[in-house]
Amino acid sequence: MTDCLFCKIGAKEIPADIVHETDRTVAFRDINPQAPTHVLVIPKAHYANAFELAQADDGLADDLLKAAHAVALQDDVAETGYRVVLNTGPGAGQTVFHVHAHVLGGRPLLWPPG
Ligand code: 5GP
Ligand code: ZN
Repeated sequence: MTDCLFCKIGAKEIPADIVHETDRTVAFRDINPQAPTHVLVIPKAHYANAFELAQADDGLADDLLKAAHAVALQDDVAETGYRVVLNTGPGAGQTVFHVHAHVLGGRPLLWPPG
């Protein structure tokens, strides 16, 4: 997709604090962190949201979840607990329409979320 912020970050056309990368995913720190660890994991390919990604059915959703867990291990929050969030649709708080998993950790996380 030509005019997508996260496509451009995935292609390294726009800088980001990249912390993890595989052949099909990139993870970078959120510009407005909500926890000591707040990393966004994206597929390099463009899918608007988690629903579209799931429908692709080519193992990419699996790659995204594995990358999220790798980030949690790397940032040392896997043992204390972390949250993987896929806001899907404007009503759920999605503002960037290139699917991204938020990896949040490093502080107590309340439930239910707002
Ligand atoms: P959403 O609200 O769509 O679930 O999450 C979008 C996230 O992207 C927000 O947490 C926001 O802070 C983050 N974000 C928006 N623009 C940028 C950017 O240019 N760089 C980085 N690193 N994060 C961004
Ligand atoms: Zn995109």
